[in-house]
Amino acid sequence: MTTYFPERMCCPRCDHGFSYMAVGSFNTFGATFYTDGFIEGPMYDDQGRLFRCPQCRAIGWNDEFICEEPGDDEDELAAVFDGEVGPIPMREYPELLAEAPWRGPDEEKYVRIAAFWAANMPRRAPDSQPAPFNDDEHRNLLALLDLLGDSSQDRLMRAEILREMGRFEECLAVLVGFDDTELETVARLIRELAMGRERGVKPIAAE
Ligand SMILES: [Zn+2]
Repeated sequence: MTTYFPERMCCPRCDHGFSYMAVGSFNTFGATFYTDGFIEGPMYDDQGRLFRCPQCRAIGWNDEFICEEPGDDEDELAAVFDGEVGPIPMREYPELLAEAPWRGPDEEKYVRIAAFWAANMPRRAPDSQPAPFNDDEHRNLLALLDLLGDSSQDRLMRAEILREMGRFEECLAVLVGFDDTELETVARLIRELAMGRERGVKPIAAE
């Protein structure tokens, strides 16, 4: 099951305090894994790391919204389920790109991956036709390719992005000599899809 608890945060810019329901634990039971690395499940809630102050609208990372003094929680607790309070939902990440809230390459990668997943949301339906990426989505993917390294996870994401862009030969080249038992199934599926010149994001069948 997914558990939540109220957590208090304070805005580093205007000092406004607010509480939201933070996720305590979640798991991947019954979840669907996709070729782009996105996970969707009834008990899966990976809350975003970026927050927006409900008062002054400043954007910051979760570790920047630290409260120095305990506050009067009653009003704040009453608003914990307010949709405006809490982590910024993934669907808003494409717009966040314009504000470039990154502190360093890791944060930039995080925001760009979330924006990639958000862009793929309408493409996840089983009967959806793979639509080409629009200019903003395309620009994000090119920037993300620049940020990806040589780890197995990064190589898989690089291959998947190239495949979804229709750059099938480059996708296959990235997967040459790919050797990671845990990620073998995904790598094989991405390779097969690229060989069939299929560019849509796909769910990974459970073993
Ligand atoms: Zn604020």
